[in-house]
Amino acid sequence: MNPLIQKLSRRDFIRKNSLAGVGVALASTGIAKPFNIATGAASKPAILGGASAWAEDRWPIWPMWDKDNDEKLLLEVMRSGVWSRADMVTRFEKAWADMLGAKRSLAVVNGTQSLVIAINQLDIKAGDEVLVPPYTFIASVSAILSNGAMPVFVDIDPETFQIDPAKIEAKITPRTKAILPVHILGLPCDMDRIMAIAKKHNLFVIEDSCQAHLAEYDHKKVGTIGNVGCFSFQNSKNLPIGEGGALVSNDDKLMDKCFSYQNFGNPYGTAVGSVSTGAIMQGTKLRFTEYQAAIGIAQMKRLDAQTTTRNENATYLKSLIKDIPGISPYKLYDKVTRGAYHLFPFRYNKEGFKGLSRQDFLKALTAEGVPCSSGYAVLNTQPFLKDTFDSKNYRKMYSKDMLDINAFNERNKCPLNEKLCNEEAVWFTQNMLLGTKEDMKMIASAIEKIHAGAEKIKTLGKK
Ligand SMILES: *Cc1c(COP(=O)(O)O)cnc(C)c1O
Repeated sequence: MNPLIQKLSRRDFIRKNSLAGVGVALASTGIAKPFNIATGAASKPAILGGASAWAEDRWPIWPMWDKDNDEKLLLEVMRSGVWSRADMVTRFEKAWADMLGAKRSLAVVNGTQSLVIAINQLDIKAGDEVLVPPYTFIASVSAILSNGAMPVFVDIDPETFQIDPAKIEAKITPRTKAILPVHILGLPCDMDRIMAIAKKHNLFVIEDSCQAHLAEYDHKKVGTIGNVGCFSFQNSKNLPIGEGGALVSNDDKLMDKCFSYQNFGNPYGTAVGSVSTGAIMQGTKLRFTEYQAAIGIAQMKRLDAQTTTRNENATYLKSLIKDIPGISPYKLYDKVTRGAYHLFPFRYNKEGFKGLSRQDFLKALTAEGVPCSSGYAVLNTQPFLKDTFDSKNYRKMYSKDMLDINAFNERNKCPLNEKLCNEEAVWFTQNMLLGTKEDMKMIASAIEKIHAGAEKIKTLGKK
C-alpha cells in the first residue's frame, strides 16, 4: 500500500481526483518549492530543523483518471443494465492480450485468484511442490497453499531483488511441478535461465506478473514467456481498477479450462446466466464485471506512456544516486528491455552513512518530503505457514515429516532475503516516478543531504 495514498482522507482524495482530475494532479508537480543544496539552511537535513526538500503532497496522486473521457464507458455500462460479465469484459480481454502480444487473456476478480486458477488448472495439488521466491507479496504463496500444494522457497539475488536462477536446481525434487517466478517490483526475472531449467526438468512456469505490466525481457512482455502469466489490477498497481486480475497464455486448452473454472465449471464461452449447459468440471465463481472492464479499458490508454515515463525517471534517478556511498540501486538482467517499475528499489548500507540505521534513514528521508518504505517483511517464516500445516486438509494430505515446521524452516532458509528485508531494502512507489526530472533531482539531493548529515542525525535523541 502506498503510504501517501493511505494518508489521504477520503475527502482529500476525491477533491484531488474527481474534481481536479489528472491534469491538476500532474500540474501541481510543476510548482516546485525551491530547494537549493548549495545554501547553508537548505543543506541542513529537515529532521535536524532544516527546510524539507518539499511538501509531500506534491507527488502525483494515484490512481489517475481523465474525467472528460474515462467516465463515459463506465456510464455506458451503468445505463445498459448489463453489469455481469458480457461484451465489455471480452473487449477488455482482447485489448489486454493484444497489448501484451498474448493469444488469450481471461479477466477475473483479482490477481490472487488469477494465480489460484492457474495453479489449479495446471493440476498442481496435494503433494506437489512449487518453487517460489520469498521476496514477494503473500498472494504468490497463498495461491500455492490454497491448492493444497507446497511452496519451496528459493533465495533471491539481492542485486536484482529477483529469484536467483543459480539456486533453483538445488531445490528441485521428484515432487516439483512448477517454478513461480515473481517479477517483483516490476523488474523482470532472468527468464532465459528460468525457462531453460524448466525445460530440462519438465516443469511449468507460472509468471507472477502482478507488479510487472508491460515489463519486457528480450522484447517479450513478461507474463507471455512461461506457460501462463498472472496480473493484478488492484488500485495501487500500474494498471489500476480497484480490484481485478487476468491470466494470459498462448495455450488454448489451458485457457478454456481456466474459463470454465471461474464460471462454475460451465464450458468455455458459456454466457453468464445460462443454466442449461451443464458443468463439465468442478468450478467456482471468480468472474470479472462489466464495470471493472470499463475502467480497465480507460486505464489501458495511458499505461504505455506512463511506463515510458517511469523507465526514464527510474534510469535518471538511478544515475543520480548510484555513487552515493551506502546506496546500491537495483540491477537489471542483460536481456531486460523495459521495466514496469511498480517500485523503485535500492539497497541501503548503513556503513556508508556513518552507521545510521535504515529506520532512521527512512525517517530522515520522510522528513524531507520523500515518501519511502523498507518494503516487505520476511515472508517464509510467518505464522500462516504453520497454521496451514496444522490444518485438517494438510494433515490428511502430507506426512508428519513434511509438516514439521522446524524442518521446513531449515530447508527453506533464505539468508539473503532476510538481510534484504531486515536491513537493506528501500522503496519508492511508482507514482513518484511519474514526476519530472526535477523531482528526481530533489530525491537525490535529499539523500545526499542525509548522507552529509548522517553523523548528526544518528545522535539525535540519543544524547
Ligand atoms: C498485488 C499482487 C498479487 C495479488 O494481486 P491482487 O489483485 O491484490 O489479488 C500477487 N502477487 C504480487 C507479486 C502482487 O504484487
